[in-house]
Amino acid sequence: MTTTARGVPAARQPLGALGPAELLHRLRAGRTSADESPITHVERVEARSGRPVSWPEWAPPELREAYGFQPWEHQAAAATLAHEGSNVVIATGTASGKSLAYQLPALSRLLADPRATVLYISPTKALAADQLRSLQRLGLDGVRPAAYDGDTPREEREWIRQHSRFVLTNPDMVHHGMLPSHQKWAVFLRHLAYVVIDECHAYRGVFGSHVAHVLRRLRRMAARYNGAPTFVLASATSGDPAGAASRLTGLPVTAVTDDASPRGAVTFALWEPPLLPAEDPELPPTRRSALSETADLLTDAVVAGTRTLAFVRSRRGAEVVASMTRHQLDEAVPGLGSRVAAYRAGYLKEDRRAIERALLTGDLLALASTNALELGVDLAGLDAVLICGYPGTRASLWQQAGRAGRAGGEALAVLVARDDPLDTYLVHHPEALFGRGVEATVLDPANPYVLGPQLCCAAAEAPLRPADLELFGGATAQAAVDALVASGALRKRPTGWYWTHQGRPDVDLRGTGGAPVAVVESATGRLLGTVDPGSSHVMLHTGAVYLHQGATYLVDDLDLEDAVALVHAADPDWSTHARDVTDISVVAVRERLDTGPVSLFLGDVDVTSQVVSYQRRRLRTGEVIDTHQLDLPARQLRTVAVWWTISPGALLAAGVEPADVPGALHAAEHAAIGLLPLMATCDRWDIGGLSTADHQDTDSPTIFVYDGHPGGAGFAERAHATARAWLGATREAIATCVCETGCPSCVQSPKCGNGNNPLDKAKAIHVLDIVLAHLPRPA
Ligand SMILES: [Zn+2]
Ligand SMILES: [Zn+2]
Repeated sequence: MTTTARGVPAARQPLGALGPAELLHRLRAGRTSADESPITHVERVEARSGRPVSWPEWAPPELREAYGFQPWEHQAAAATLAHEGSNVVIATGTASGKSLAYQLPALSRLLADPRATVLYISPTKALAADQLRSLQRLGLDGVRPAAYDGDTPREEREWIRQHSRFVLTNPDMVHHGMLPSHQKWAVFLRHLAYVVIDECHAYRGVFGSHVAHVLRRLRRMAARYNGAPTFVLASATSGDPAGAASRLTGLPVTAVTDDASPRGAVTFALWEPPLLPAEDPELPPTRRSALSETADLLTDAVVAGTRTLAFVRSRRGAEVVASMTRHQLDEAVPGLGSRVAAYRAGYLKEDRRAIERALLTGDLLALASTNALELGVDLAGLDAVLICGYPGTRASLWQQAGRAGRAGGEALAVLVARDDPLDTYLVHHPEALFGRGVEATVLDPANPYVLGPQLCCAAAEAPLRPADLELFGGATAQAAVDALVASGALRKRPTGWYWTHQGRPDVDLRGTGGAPVAVVESATGRLLGTVDPGSSHVMLHTGAVYLHQGATYLVDDLDLEDAVALVHAADPDWSTHARDVTDISVVAVRERLDTGPVSLFLGDVDVTSQVVSYQRRRLRTGEVIDTHQLDLPARQLRTVAVWWTISPGALLAAGVEPADVPGALHAAEHAAIGLLPLMATCDRWDIGGLSTADHQDTDSPTIFVYDGHPGGAGFAERAHATARAWLGATREAIATCVCETGCPSCVQSPKCGNGNNPLDKAKAIHVLDIVLAHLPRPA
């Protein structure tokens, strides 16, 4: 019997007695609508046998023994590169044993050099905790691995700085804790041999750009103490991992991508919930909700004895699925419902750990999770994964599907379509999902809105010398430093640039803004959890149903001033749905180009969104009970936007009738947002848009594309600077797409707030033709 990197038998049968095909058959049979199969496609991803190799010569016997198995080819290759001092990124599938690739060289060094240290950085505390357990299991003397994060008690921190040689932390802690007090870390930094960056594909967009500078600051401070670490990065499969890792670290990085671990066959089914019996023959038919469908499938999977994880896009959705599944299971077998839980980021540490443990031991059979679990929490032995709604990128889809079938077992993955054009398109066009590369991780360290604040942080840690600027981007950094001197943020002296203000620069890596809102049970004063301020109006408005661990609460009061929501336990048979309205107003125009029919602008805008009302809906049927108005303040985002207008006359002349204008503009807006990453090295999730047939500030049909981050992130500026190339590519993407009426590859958007409606693909091409005909070609 072969064993895998985790020492689990490779040919392990699923925990339940059913294989994936039989489980799928069982799920299918559980549906009541017998005439039409909900399964639109079944893709069989064949098993792959592993390629084990012998241990690299340099691997110490102590470690070989501690692991107790042979490495796979890709693990040995990456580990040897790192051992030889090359910066390396290993980008292979979930459960391919990436941790060995960095643990082996790092631990070998720690064993060989009793003073050497290793810093491990992960995007989530849960992942760091998992990694810590795996290091502790190896039981190596003198390594003293320790987690150093926001949860670490003050009294332990000093001990860790002095004695731990393998510190596990996150970028926020490096940024807020470690670098500002680098003197306390001097010995650790001097002997820093390896920096491990796990799940590095998580560092994208503005957050990724910030982290890129945190790593440059780390490199600078290590160098000050004569440390010269090698970087080892682990990534999910992604487009151009070497390029992304190199942008992230600022160093040349070699990629290892040929996955030599064994993989069990995956049966991947695309599932479209059935149409509901028509209540009103006049209205277009609707499908059963993906949440209800997923809850039913999860129920059947548990009854069949398989360990199943359901991914649900929203945290609220995950709670609903868990709650419905519990209820159904308890009806079938009293007590069985207790083996289902919900999981999301934002739970308190103890709750998270308890859930992870219970799933590992089998006390839990089913889990409904948001994508909090996408990031590497180590759950072994899942038989099936249900993906409720397309997660937005193929990289995420594969990451989620890869959760099933650990250790070579056969597995089932099911994508349950939501009732929207994008999901519908995907379940009927499997070629858009299978047999295509995944997206590249994008970030932009040259982004001026990130670079400026980060240079202030660096200067506050130690004055910037001219020689430092190369590290932070050369000429771009020089220009940013000059601007900071001009604005009074930094002070220039003969030896360099100084931060001379009281306190440290206030820089938030995640740019969420504001303190999280605490959810407190009125009767007991118990803190149930926290919600980020951006979601608090939607989730915690007065009257909202708030779900925590499948238990429901009603919000009595949302106190915005104190950032507290008071709730009481309740068991209503309705759910609540907040409605918000978004608007854009132009604050200042920075650039303006008038060509007659078309005008192009760059400027500052206020994006206003206000939660104005909520509906109560029956839990089972979705029937609307009533609508309540809310009196919440609007939330404003001051940011930068690029926008363009087209005269109604030009539209009409091109055959775009007034009734078609909203769909044409909306489709062009979506495609433009989708194509912007070509120009701006951003991510479509960092960008927002709004299109309207008549905007109050322009008096014309207008399309806005704005930075989704307070103060802007430089994306809109790049869009403006490259407008002709950008919109030209947008036009091409739409025109050459083989679909008839629009698809995710052209005009549909996974993040549309209007359910991808209306969209007019053909007329969007006309709109872009008008714009391109009038924008001047670059000289
Ligand atoms: Zn298309
Ligand atoms: Zn939209």
